[in-house]
Amino acid sequence: MNALSQHACDQLAKLLENFGLAAETPLSNWIDGGLVAGEGEVITLINPVTGETLLSYRDAGAALIERAAQAAWQGQHEWMELTASERGRRMHAALRGLEGHEEALAQLESVVAGKPIRDCRAEVGKVREMFEYYAGWCDKQHGEVIPVPTSHLNYVRHVPYGVVGQITPWNAPMFTCAWQLAPAIAAGNAVVLKPSELTPFSSVVIAKLLENSGLPKGLINIVNGLGKTTGAALTDHPVISKLVFVGSPQSGRMIAEAGARRLVPSVLELGGKSANIVFADAKLDEAVAGAQAAIFAAAGQSCVAGSRLLIERSVFDDVTTRLARAAEQIEVGLPSDEASRMGPLQNRRQFEQVTRMIEAAVAAGARVLTGAKRPVGLPEEAQGYFIAPTVLVDVTPDMEIAQQEVFGPVLIAMAFDDEAGAIQLANDTRFGLAGAVWSQDVARAHRVAGRLRAGTVWINSYKAISVMSPFGGFGDSGFGRSSGLDGLREYTVPQSVWVETAPEASVAFGYGSGVG
Ligand code: NAD
Repeated sequence: MNALSQHACDQLAKLLENFGLAAETPLSNWIDGGLVAGEGEVITLINPVTGETLLSYRDAGAALIERAAQAAWQGQHEWMELTASERGRRMHAALRGLEGHEEALAQLESVVAGKPIRDCRAEVGKVREMFEYYAGWCDKQHGEVIPVPTSHLNYVRHVPYGVVGQITPWNAPMFTCAWQLAPAIAAGNAVVLKPSELTPFSSVVIAKLLENSGLPKGLINIVNGLGKTTGAALTDHPVISKLVFVGSPQSGRMIAEAGARRLVPSVLELGGKSANIVFADAKLDEAVAGAQAAIFAAAGQSCVAGSRLLIERSVFDDVTTRLARAAEQIEVGLPSDEASRMGPLQNRRQFEQVTRMIEAAVAAGARVLTGAKRPVGLPEEAQGYFIAPTVLVDVTPDMEIAQQEVFGPVLIAMAFDDEAGAIQLANDTRFGLAGAVWSQDVARAHRVAGRLRAGTVWINSYKAISVMSPFGGFGDSGFGRSSGLDGLREYTVPQSVWVETAPEASVAFGYGSGVG
């Protein structure tokens, strides 16, 4: 094992010890208010920086899902015995558990996910933001009174499902964990959450720190393991009455099918192939800076990555040349380096997929403007999953690289001639997660935004995302919404209650008016 790998192993061991997760078999699950080791097959984590072994832990499997589901069932009843205001206070109070641990949590994520430390610090900040926002909703989930045409008082309450199952990916483990935990419990549910097997620990630590600071035990359970074992046991468990999945369309289909077999509804937050449209009248400096951040942040491992840059033909060469220059300026380095803005890809499968897709694009006629190789200036020992920011031109809409999510630092640029052509190119995809329009013509910007088939659209901006605003996709990007009131409502069911107010009850036989 080289010195970089050894350093990461030592650092991870210390961090796990600091959070109480260290043991002969790491304590990779948080169930019923306690840390538990998995008992199934060994899962080995690989260091994304070096490609060498980082740590092994054990798959949780069906038995631990069973324990987690039972604990959640109990925890949810205890949670709902509290007043709504008290639940809000407890959610706020739970955040005190994070205090003093933010830096260690960011480091834990950085080592395991291979993400730049500055990104991980920002991600920890998101946990706080999600909980603060949804804590405020606890006592504001008013129902409605419906003016029914009978003598009844009819009111609607928003009641929790009970126990929800959540499954998250490796690219933003802390963000997606808090993103779904906070609305679920604010709505009155308990949770069993399975993070990606590639980034198991940060969610366990978050659950432990939060739950120990004011939440009933069993309210949040984190169970780690493979999708085909632990994940499948979760989706199939009879206690789970709603599924919320964040991940790829391929797995999303399986989760929705598993839910449908039991008539359990799902929310799917899936991948994207988002179009970033630059008109010739845009402020080109800003558009180039925006396009660069849209694709290369998080090494392109972002669901909303602006992976298709559509440029009006008259400025195509100018924009792509500037963009290639900007891409070459990005600091690609070790995740632990404060200056790094891009680290490695998270895992070998992703690295191989990105490499293969670039090669296939070039074989089909695409031209590399920059990148498509190992970045320069990395330490010799960093033989992991690094790919330099890549810009491809001479791409046609029928190519795989123009249609499939790459999930890496690869931008394709295509030219359009007019507004209709831009819209047609932008919507020529099965995905529909996000998109952006760069133009100084206000009317045109709004006109085009309105015709994009995408859940989120930015005008002269990119990646502005807030827990307050609904987020989700069309088509292969999934269905249902997260964040905001829409995200909260995904965790409740409207219950209609009819109260007879006439002196004597009159029950209609069939579709009677029911007027007393
Ligand atoms: P993935 O689909 O491979 O895995 C996601 C999760 O699903 C993991 O926890 C995995 O173990 C689990 N899983 C896989 N098969 C399962 C099964 N049969 N039953 C139950 N669970 C199963 O996705 P990934 O590679 O971890 O993440 C990358 C994908 O996530 C990209 O497509 C990205 O765009 C998407 N993503 C979407 C959003 C969003 O909000 N729309 C956010 C982040 C990532």
